[in-house]
Amino acid sequence: MSLAHLLLRQAQRQPQAPAILDGAQPHASYLQWAARSAGLARHLRDGGLQPGDRVLLFAHNHPRYLELLWGLWWAGLVAVPVNAKLHPREVEWIAADAGAQLAFVTRDVAPDALAGVAHQVDLESMEADQLLAPVAEPAAVPITERAPDDIAWLFYTSGTTGRPKGVMLTQRNLMTMGLGYFADVDPIARGDAIVYAAPISHGAGIYAIPHLMAGARHVVPASRGVDAAELFALGRAVGPLSMFAAPTIVARLVDHAAQQGLGPELCARSFKTIVYGGAPMYAADIQRALSVMGPRFVQIYGQGETPMVGTVLSRADLKDRAHPRHAERIASVGVAQTPVRVRVTDAQGQDLPLGEVGEVLIQGDSVMAGYWGNPQATAAAIRNGWLFTGDMGALDEGGYLTLKDRSKDLIISGGSNIYPREVEEALLTAAGVAEVAVVGQPDPEWGENVVAFVVAQPGAAPTQEAADAHCLQRIARFKRPKRYVFVPELPKNNYGKVLKTELRRWLASA
Ligand code: AMP
Repeated sequence: MSLAHLLLRQAQRQPQAPAILDGAQPHASYLQWAARSAGLARHLRDGGLQPGDRVLLFAHNHPRYLELLWGLWWAGLVAVPVNAKLHPREVEWIAADAGAQLAFVTRDVAPDALAGVAHQVDLESMEADQLLAPVAEPAAVPITERAPDDIAWLFYTSGTTGRPKGVMLTQRNLMTMGLGYFADVDPIARGDAIVYAAPISHGAGIYAIPHLMAGARHVVPASRGVDAAELFALGRAVGPLSMFAAPTIVARLVDHAAQQGLGPELCARSFKTIVYGGAPMYAADIQRALSVMGPRFVQIYGQGETPMVGTVLSRADLKDRAHPRHAERIASVGVAQTPVRVRVTDAQGQDLPLGEVGEVLIQGDSVMAGYWGNPQATAAAIRNGWLFTGDMGALDEGGYLTLKDRSKDLIISGGSNIYPREVEEALLTAAGVAEVAVVGQPDPEWGENVVAFVVAQPGAAPTQEAADAHCLQRIARFKRPKRYVFVPELPKNNYGKVLKTELRRWLASA
């Protein structure tokens, strides 16, 4: 069974149904999509590519991206989608690590040829037109058989620290993730629509799989990016959209809705379900999102190593404001998703009592096969069949997991553990504060000092004194930042994750 069978099945079941939309315009029916992907598979096979060979995708979001992914799988190849915001030099490193001899690119992200990649095809070129020329009968192009443990997607970690590692995601991992969506995240009906505002190279694109399983429509915004006004209009034009969004994208949608005075009912015309995750969503922010846009949110926690599958905080949990523990629950990342078990352990891998903070471990069929060409890193990450996520958290008696911070972000000051997230949550409720990132700065006396980087709301000028007074009312004295740095914006990667390593580096050099 290959992921490509999911596409062929839809092409047989509902050939004329719209499958891919470019903005509000039709781009491909299911039959056309399958015919193009099958055509690509045939060309690549004829060109000498063998099952298991890696093919790089270094491109902005594009309707053809989906045709390429399924064309690669049709031929039994391994897709290596990389972040379009990476520097071409970084991508060359990934291409060499993956051993990719073929790359599909868009010229805006790869203006020059990538060194070391023998063949490169611009997605918008005539060569791409030819490669994706539809075959008359997709079923006549055999789908290369794949075993459950064969790699389908080589996912390079976003690399907030060190060199990115290639996470080997197998057919089974992705199939499990797809089925899990229906069990835990949201039902999908045939005519539903998913929109790819966030990069297809990451979680947003991975969600194409359940939407293909359901025969839904796949919408790529004309802007190819995140434009709140465009997304609201697109939803009104094609029907309510589902999407995966990092918390920063959610904030932009909520701001837009609030500015335009769009209440929950109008928001419902544009959005069916917004799945958020990938970075912390602070309690104050999700509360606001729920009151402005209504109950259309679901949170997931996962990581590249167990893509989109870890825990889930359901729509029902988010909406149940009457629940006595609602405040704690919305600050949590929810309960284990159906395909996995989740534990919290000490450094030796022993389970910790409920409520105690330790490392989060995950086990199940969504967990990667390992890191590409890196058995040492694999052995460090997967021990006794459990994935050590590097995230710190605590479980409660209901099975709800509350994340603290990545273990490397933990601050130890005067021998006490300080979780940056707690300080960030407190500061975010201070007047005039839009965004915060808290990191530790090495200090000879205390070990580390707490430093807060603060972005002010437009027109506001929060002060150190006011912020400090605010913290004093909310958190223990020793957790208060010793220092504030007011900045116009926080350094983030393409997926909206704050790059704390950069903040620490800046502190070290300043
Ligand atoms: P990546 O592998 O790039 O998807 O990054 C995964 C990491 O993002 C996780 O290990 C967490 O540290 C963080 N993360 C993912 N989802 C959430 C979430 N819902 N809340 C807080 N942090 C998250």
